[in-house]
Amino acid sequence: MTQAPKLPASASTCITPWLVVLACWASLWGAAPALAETAPLSDKPIRLVFAGDTLLDDAPGALIARGADPFAEFAAVFAAADIRIANLECVVATVGSSGDKNFTFRAHPRVLPVLKTHFDAVALANNHSGDFGREAFAQMLGLLRHAGLAQMGGGMNLREAHTPWIVERQGLRIAFLSYNEFMPRSFEADHNAPGVAWSEDEQVVDDIRKARQVHRADLVIPIMHWGWENELVANVRQRQLARLMVEAGADAVIGGHPHVTQDIEHIEGKPVIYSVGNFVMKETDNANQRRGWVLRLDLDKQGVRGFDTLVAQIRMDGVPERDDRAASPCWQRGDQAVGQCVAGQRVQPR
Ligand SMILES: [Zn+2]
Repeated sequence: MTQAPKLPASASTCITPWLVVLACWASLWGAAPALAETAPLSDKPIRLVFAGDTLLDDAPGALIARGADPFAEFAAVFAAADIRIANLECVVATVGSSGDKNFTFRAHPRVLPVLKTHFDAVALANNHSGDFGREAFAQMLGLLRHAGLAQMGGGMNLREAHTPWIVERQGLRIAFLSYNEFMPRSFEADHNAPGVAWSEDEQVVDDIRKARQVHRADLVIPIMHWGWENELVANVRQRQLARLMVEAGADAVIGGHPHVTQDIEHIEGKPVIYSVGNFVMKETDNANQRRGWVLRLDLDKQGVRGFDTLVAQIRMDGVPERDDRAASPCWQRGDQAVGQCVAGQRVQPR
């Protein structure tokens, strides 16, 4: 990730004596690319990596059954991050039945150790985690806990589903919430029934406020499952809800579900990444659906310091490969607008 231009720490020491002037100039002149390495530890941002729709039944599930790892191409990206989250777009269970829904996805619990290798947590509020009913969903909650994977947006009841996952890194407390607003709503948790969190506006606002006031979070990041499939631009409802969340105190909003990437905007200075697209997803003859972003957000006390995106080119069997030559969005605090980067380096717009 490129760094916003700023004076290196050594600038303040660049006063006489004479003999060091030359050295100081040299360090100022060529310092920018080395800032990340030389920044003091306390100044180091917390890096969050988010991967979009991840579906581990079908071909990727079969790959795991054979001992392979569909995440391998991005392993180094995840390993270098402080917090790793994916949207788990299937239930992981051995029980339940699929009902008469069009597409239903259930992965075998053998996928969990592989998930755990690369991720700290999964977002569950989506339109497939309930595909095999409440019993299967409840079993998944137990399996995730047993595997040491945190989750957000799901729970054994409504209260739990709306409780944030709080993670603390370098003294900074970050709350993650997750909401679905794509039908069916029947997967929603109830007062005494397991399920997911639904994005009822008033409830979302209340959850975000509580994340700060009750859970003492410094930063709050909702993860959304929203928008229309295959639309490359966010719709009016997404924009309205994003604004509501930012006004309630969200520091960033990260979205998915449309299966394609969407536009990014800043609302009151807070980045809203409307859709990162697919990540592990057997599809499709649709080129846009086979190109997702792995999002990297750098966080500090003030919120998002910067972000970039790595392009995941998804093979026909659903496995993502890195495309480090493709340009994709990036931004640093102080930038006027979202730009384009290739492999973390800013490039001029064409
Ligand atoms: Zn979805």
